[in-house]
Parts: sequence; C-alpha cells; structure tokens
Amino acid sequence: MLGWDYRFGLAEIERERAWVEINPVAIAHNVRQIRRLLLPQTALMAIVKADAYGHGAPLVAQTALEAGASWLGVATIPEGIELRESGISAPILILGAVNTPEQVRAIARWQLQPTVCSPKQAFIFSEAMAELTEFAPLPVHLKLDTGMSRLGTDWQDAPAFAQLVRSLPHLKIVSIYSHLATADEPDPSVMRQQQHRFEQAIAAIRRVGIQPPQLHLANSAATLTDPALHYDMVRTGLALYGLSPAPHLQHVLDLRPALQVKARITQVKTIPAGRGVSYGYRFVTPRSLRMAVVGIGYADGVPRQLTNRMQVLIRGQRVKQIGTITMDQLMLDVSDLPNLTEGEVVTLLGWDGSERITADDWANTLNTISWEILCGFKHRLPRIAVSAPPPKSNSASVESKGDLYF
Ligand SMILES: *Cc1c(COP(=O)(O)O)cnc(C)c1O
Repeated sequence: MLGWDYRFGLAEIERERAWVEINPVAIAHNVRQIRRLLLPQTALMAIVKADAYGHGAPLVAQTALEAGASWLGVATIPEGIELRESGISAPILILGAVNTPEQVRAIARWQLQPTVCSPKQAFIFSEAMAELTEFAPLPVHLKLDTGMSRLGTDWQDAPAFAQLVRSLPHLKIVSIYSHLATADEPDPSVMRQQQHRFEQAIAAIRRVGIQPPQLHLANSAATLTDPALHYDMVRTGLALYGLSPAPHLQHVLDLRPALQVKARITQVKTIPAGRGVSYGYRFVTPRSLRMAVVGIGYADGVPRQLTNRMQVLIRGQRVKQIGTITMDQLMLDVSDLPNLTEGEVVTLLGWDGSERITADDWANTLNTISWEILCGFKHRLPRIAVSAPPPKSNSASVESKGDLYF
C-alpha cells in the first residue's frame, strides 16, 4: 500500500505519461554536505516521514544511511514497517504519538522505537510490554514541549516525567528531545528561548539523578544555523532533499534538489484568437497560438491554484501554462517552440539546460512552503530513480569540493 513502485533507469521512462525522477546521487551529496557541519560523534537522523517527503522512503533511507546518516525518523508505524520490510536494520524513531497496546505490540515486533509524550502513554507502553515476555525493555524517546505546543510533556515537568519512565520496568530511555517552532525564521529569539528551556529541563533531570543518554533538538534549519543546537543528534528532513529551509540559510551549504517532475506532451494544435481554453475559460487566446496539452494534472499533485501562474521547461526554455489545470491534463502556450511534437518531455519541477524551477518557486506563488509542495505528488506518478550529477542551484555559493562523485 505504502511504498512507491520504484523503477530504475531511463528505459522505463519511455512508457510513462508523467513521472517523478529521484536522484540518489543528490541525496548522498546532501547528506555529506550536512555531515560537514557536524562533529564526528554527532549522529544524523534522516527524516523520511511522508514517504521521504514524496521521494520514496526505502530508496532515500538506504542512500542516506550509506552516505553518513545512522538513524531514521518517520511519523507513523506503517512508515516504519515499510522500511523494515525493505530490509533496513538501522534504528527507526517514530516521531508521532502512539496510544494503544496494539500499536506498542507492532512497534516491539518490528523493532521500532516510539516517542513517549506523556506519563499516561508511558503507563500504556509499560503495561503492553509486560505481556510481551519475549521482548527486552522497549527503547523509548521522551518528548518535551519547550514551546512548540504540539506533542510532549511541558519542560517544567521534565524531571518527574523522566523519573516516572525510569521507574517502569519494561521501558528504557534512549533519548530526550524537543522540537523547535521558529528555527527557519531570521529572528532567533523564540528558538533561543526553547533552547534555554531544553537545557533547564535537562539540568533538572540530571539533578534527580538521571543521566540522559542522548539529546536532540535540531531540524534542518537549526542544523544549518548553529552547532550549539546539534547536541548528540540532528534530525534533518528538508535539507536532505536539497532545499534550503529558509532564504537566509541558502548559502550555508551547497544543497542539490533530488526530485524532478516530468510529463509528456500528448497533443499539439493551433487555437485561433478569441477562444476560451479549459474549464471556466480562465484563459482566452489573445491571438492565434500554438498550444500543447500535457498529460499531468492536479490528481498527480500539480496544484490547481497554479492555473495561469506557472511555467514549465521544454528544450531548456521557459513556457507559460494557460487555462485551468484539470485533473489529468494541463495546457501550454508553445508558440515560441517550432516543430514541437507529441511525446516530447516537459519539466514541471527540475532543470533543463541552464533553467531551473524549484519547489520554492511553486511555494512562493502559492504562499506556502516547499515541504508541502514535495509531499503533494501522488502515487499515480511512478518514482523513477535516475543517478546523475545534479546541477548546482543558481543560488548556491559554496563550492562542493568534489563531494558529488564517490
Ligand atoms: C519533520 C520533523 C523534522 C524534520 O524537519 P525539517 O525541517 O524537514 O528538517 C525534525 N523533527 C521532527 C520532530 C519532525 O517532525
């Protein structure tokens, strides 16, 4: 159900109407770039939730582990099981909350590691584990709320929470962590307040005689911002995929996008002046124009809100999208491209010649974030792994020093 039907190589693309190309070389490059910011003893957890932000979790996980990550983070139990079924044995943290004995049993059986957010959850975990006599104590990760106001126990209650979990015979504390709410914003004050609360909580836990084994706080933005936020491990998602978590962090590393979205032209024709194009006639031809229909639409994850507001790349040139984006198809004004024919490849996100269109471009147009764009590509698009040196992004100012080639 979960995983993408991965197909490797260029031959398969010939059969496809539309597809997502994933470049494991870019993922490996990004992992090595991130590792440069870390001390050798600092662990890198590759966040591969939501099917690795739409890139395909098993391939990304495998690639990241080979390139220098040692932990994996997912949101849900099925996401963790999918990685185990693909043969991955690295430790996997479930970032989301777990509340039922059935979930705890699945976690133990698949050797996943849960987050404990409250004393109530700790009791449920311990009781469920008591019945599973064949298992060793369950490794758990305590989540503190230092200001995100999402999951976790309030940082001021951290010592009592840690003492309680330690007193439960079937649980073993592996790490204590928290999550930052504003690490991608240029003003660091809220992030520093959260860091201060985290340190206060850890100091209080030490005072009651508990040595926390591992501490972690940083997402991609915090990882790129300050080594003081790295602690024993960083949890990076977006940066793995080659996107900067914020404009002001764009120049910290040479990150390369790993995902491209491509589709084929399915019909080319001339439309006379004054004709409405697509549902609602939201585009009317100002003159006679050459129009191309492309076999991709909002059911594939191209947001309908991009209607008349997006461009694509064909033969290294920018081309305007026209008329309402429909479920399976969209239209282009290709008047400037002579002799265009059915079957030619259109790049919706990615690169062609010296031109680039990134998830950030779509996110800016739609007033959202690149994370949401990447997660939006649907299962109808096959993921095809294509290993190639990914081009430098226009904004990258840091030299890659040959990282790209192993
Ligand atoms: C998703 C997530 C991350 C990764 O965030 P990025 O900004 O993509 O690096 C880290 N920690 C937690 C708890 C998360 O849910």
